[in-house]
Amino acid sequence: MPSPQPTDSIFSQLDALGHKKVVFCSDPDTGLKAIIAIHDTTLGPALGGTRYWAYRSEQEALQDVLRLSKAMTYKSAIAGLNLGGGKAVIIGDSRKDKTEALLRKFGRFIKNLNGEFITAEDVGTNPRDMEYIRMETQHVTGVPESMGGSGDPAPIAALGVYMGIKACVKELYGNDTITGRSVIVQGIGHVGEHLVKLLREDNAKVYVSDINDERTRQVSKKYGAEAVSNNTIFDINADIYSPCALGATINTQTIAKLQCAIIAGSANNQLQDEAVHGQMLLDKGILFAPDYVISAGGIINCYSELMGFSKKRTMQLTENIYEATRNVLKLSAAEKISTVVAANKIAEKRISDIKKVKSTY
Ligand code: NAD
Repeated sequence: MPSPQPTDSIFSQLDALGHKKVVFCSDPDTGLKAIIAIHDTTLGPALGGTRYWAYRSEQEALQDVLRLSKAMTYKSAIAGLNLGGGKAVIIGDSRKDKTEALLRKFGRFIKNLNGEFITAEDVGTNPRDMEYIRMETQHVTGVPESMGGSGDPAPIAALGVYMGIKACVKELYGNDTITGRSVIVQGIGHVGEHLVKLLREDNAKVYVSDINDERTRQVSKKYGAEAVSNNTIFDINADIYSPCALGATINTQTIAKLQCAIIAGSANNQLQDEAVHGQMLLDKGILFAPDYVISAGGIINCYSELMGFSKKRTMQLTENIYEATRNVLKLSAAEKISTVVAANKIAEKRISDIKKVKSTY
């Protein structure tokens, strides 16, 4: 089925991606314009972050929230969590438009969903914002540790990516030793910096790149990584490319240049076109760790918070990303399908199996 376009009718977009419910939240008093998308709740309540972004149009915001919420269904399914997939977007500039009243009003809309949707941070929102939402509803995670929450999920997300990298290294080289491997980390923000730390502790050769030059300088100095220009990273001959900035960095142009053996990073939606570029990487012999499989550490942290936070359990679930990635790579090799198709098959099978379990009241 072709991907839905922003110009398609709203219901045909929902049908095409399989969404269950979409809620439009409008409140002129606070300026709130938000969309909450609930993709699937077979495995549990739909959990997904709230993205605060200045979309160019309402159509673009709808398309983004539909795509992101579907990815959350797959992310939780493959991580073995009892959570469905959802996401929310607030339309606006998070640096200028965000107010306590707007966030609390948004919290009221979440409250009205009676637990069907639970939120957390995403691009443009932070733990302080979650505190405001928490004033109106219990259905929010990612609140600060001082409020009984699980705090910053980035170190856990980085650990998951690190486990995913190890699983890929094992697949290609027969052992999962990182020492001596070379890795390009693109985007050294919250997740990227923690990943650089883990890799350097293992004595990997690390190249770092960020559009923020000051950050590149700081992180390279702190961890003994080599700073490289963002324009030249695809010319570097390294074993692993780890995209930890924004999505769609893997496309027809960059695949032609890529010299690495493995791609494994935290950025969401790394492939510009999942089907086309997943297959291109398979044909070129580059091992791609699907981003939703190895970046599940953040949602695992949220899940843990809902279950009564335990650091030990969170670490265990995150370390399971190693096995989850191995299973995807094995299925991809056995059936000669792209790793993305393999991951989707595993996630869909778990959802369909659990649907059968739930058929008994
Ligand atoms: P962040 O905003 O802290 O860091 C992103 C970094 O990327 C920034 O330093 C920014 O300057 C840099 N950047 C932006 N565009 C770039 C470009 N074109 N080239 C190079 N650098 C660029 O974000 P984060 O929390 O570290 O998340 C990074 C990625 O991982 C995002 O795609 C996010 O959705 C995903 N992710 C994050 C978490 C989490 O817990 N934070 C969990 C799962 C997935």
